[in-house]
Amino acid sequence: MPPPVFRFAPSPNGYLHLGHARSALLNFDLARETGGRFLLRIEDIDTTRCRPEFEAAIYEDLAWLGLSWETPVRRQSEQLARYRDAVERLQAEGLIYPSFESRTEIARLVAQKEAGAPWPRDPDGAPLYPGVAKQLAPEERERLISSGAPYALRLDMAAACAQAKHLVWTEHGEGPDGEQGAVTARPEDWGDVILARKETPTSYHLSVVIDDALQGVTDVVRGRDLFWSTSVHRLLQSLLGLPQPLYRHHPLMTDAAGQKLSKSTGAMALRELRAAGATPADIRRMAQLP
Ligand code: GLU
Repeated sequence: MPPPVFRFAPSPNGYLHLGHARSALLNFDLARETGGRFLLRIEDIDTTRCRPEFEAAIYEDLAWLGLSWETPVRRQSEQLARYRDAVERLQAEGLIYPSFESRTEIARLVAQKEAGAPWPRDPDGAPLYPGVAKQLAPEERERLISSGAPYALRLDMAAACAQAKHLVWTEHGEGPDGEQGAVTARPEDWGDVILARKETPTSYHLSVVIDDALQGVTDVVRGRDLFWSTSVHRLLQSLLGLPQPLYRHHPLMTDAAGQKLSKSTGAMALRELRAAGATPADIRRMAQLP
């Protein structure tokens, strides 16, 4: 049996905090315990929020924690052609359509819908896409695209689910409601998700499944906030004929008020904790790891 492959996949859009430390250390420890490999992947497709100094800080903070990883490190911004190929494949199968509404326009459409009855929301709490771009005539799509209008490429969820029925993943961790073992994917809960935009030929969902497959990742260990995203990941794996890893979603680090740690809730960055005198052993303790 080839060794298991683990990865930590941060986005360089801020400094790492204790929540990241928990994920990174868990992956690293599991790789060590199982004689597996540990990879680091930089998820930097959002060029408006990712910055080189945050990427440099990731390497510095992880090395300080005592982690080492295989090189070269994969950076998603260098893999855009691969993502574009996958989008084209799904497009050729008629599973993708362009939508042209701006965020403001979408918010207005949702408000209109909600005036009548509650409008469905995805597992992250965002309203499902309310537009009717799927019904646009091919000539109208062509006209809008050649006029230079911005667009998002969406997965036709109904068509995709009709093609990939009853998907399951193996969960070695636990979902928000205690889900474990064989979990039935519910991609339809996400509506017509965006897989790419005019300016960015990919999205989180698409690049994560492509990279996990290309890097031979066998075990995805990440925070529970991504538990239900796995539904979309299983669907894309099935549509693109990619292998499915095992999943282990771990509990999130929370602050005293029970809020998920994040920059916006004022979580202290690892480098701030370090400057305040914390040692890597303190970080392990604070992240509740052995
Ligand atoms: N890049 C994602 C994040 O920083 C994690 C992706 C994953 O582990 O699947 O939240």
